[in-house]
Amino acid sequence: MKPTILAIITAMFLCNFACFSTRSGGNESTGTSGSKPLNTTDSSQNNITTTKKTDSTMNNTSKFPDLNKDAFKLHYDAIVIDTHNDILMPVFLEGADLNKNNPGTQSDIIKWKKGGLDVQMFSIYVPERYKSNDFKYVMKLIDKLEENQAENPESFALCTSYQELTAGLESGKFCALMGAEGGNMIEGSMENLETLYSRGVRYLGLTWNTSNAIGTSARDETERGKKGGLTDFGKDVVKRMNELGMLVDVSHLGETAFWDVVELSNAPIIASHSNCYSLAPHYRNLTDDQIKAIAKSGGYIGINFFYKFLDPNGNPGAIKNVQSKYRNAAKQFADEYGDDLVGFNEKRYEYIEENKVNSGTPIDVLIDHIDHIVQLVGIDYVGLGSDFDGSITTVNEMYDATCYPIITKKLVERGYKEEDIRKILGGNFMRVFKQVCSKP
Ligand SMILES: [Zn+2]
Repeated sequence: MKPTILAIITAMFLCNFACFSTRSGGNESTGTSGSKPLNTTDSSQNNITTTKKTDSTMNNTSKFPDLNKDAFKLHYDAIVIDTHNDILMPVFLEGADLNKNNPGTQSDIIKWKKGGLDVQMFSIYVPERYKSNDFKYVMKLIDKLEENQAENPESFALCTSYQELTAGLESGKFCALMGAEGGNMIEGSMENLETLYSRGVRYLGLTWNTSNAIGTSARDETERGKKGGLTDFGKDVVKRMNELGMLVDVSHLGETAFWDVVELSNAPIIASHSNCYSLAPHYRNLTDDQIKAIAKSGGYIGINFFYKFLDPNGNPGAIKNVQSKYRNAAKQFADEYGDDLVGFNEKRYEYIEENKVNSGTPIDVLIDHIDHIVQLVGIDYVGLGSDFDGSITTVNEMYDATCYPIITKKLVERGYKEEDIRKILGGNFMRVFKQVCSKP
């Protein structure tokens, strides 16, 4: 799939991963990504300053009385958190640079800052072809992220607790958290789970698409009729995660296993990147009963931007055509507006509104999923879990991580109040993170 030159460049970048020279398929998708080489970066440097923010800003409910005018100002003022992103795959496997504006990735620190994101929870994930050596791979991945942070201490802070996170936000830094996707990586060992925790990983998705020693996956339960639920080891894992202060992530988990978790867990349950089954019937999505159970636990659901989990009739080719048009227009505006991010967003949004298309999957569908959760269980349990760089095609307007402000604008148009929008953008996850991942 990948040209030889990419393998050579990758080997140059990754002495620890010299044999990991190509990317065979994505995280959410089962096919190859078809993305362009990621090694080249443009000259944009990481020079966008982030506003210093405190958790108490979420309680400021009347800072912007005219939201129709100030939607984008609110966006850059709020704490914005994304609970799932797979950039570490292209960063470590293909040589993309986290700290530069990579032309071939949906996200990186430049794009996050332009998009007003303050906190990214990185997915620690083992691609299928390395699954024979999961835990060793994961340790190297975390080493690599720590090395990257040590080399770029001004670029981002790597946080492992609520206290470190609020300190990072208060210093105006972009904050990174780690979450693990796929319990296969602990290789059936409780000691490995504890090591993951000690290395700073703060959620574990119990399964990816394949079942493992912990329990059965949504895909296996749905497509292969496996109904095993959590194993005895899986039950011990959930109990130990509760003791450690590690979030149990049920995205990708089978429904039988899900209800086992609900019965066992004494802490809020999260789905870091899942949507609503009643709007898009896909095994990766949550039924209304599951959404209610997560809310009852005091938990959190991060809305996934992958069109397949939002719109059963979506067409990726049509979406990509729309995105290419939006992206090209936005490039012009970006040059024109420079560091004026609010002005840039107003112009980009005006362009999108004036050039509305009837193809692809519009962002309104994504907002429908947020609305559905809010109507079902209230405002306190939904947030953003984009899945950017997990080999996904996102909805039309969310072509990359510079586009988060469009979500805020749409929420304003749907009539959400400032307080509610702050909760969706980050406040809800902050609440859960504070409850489960605070230092003793
Ligand atoms: Zn996933």
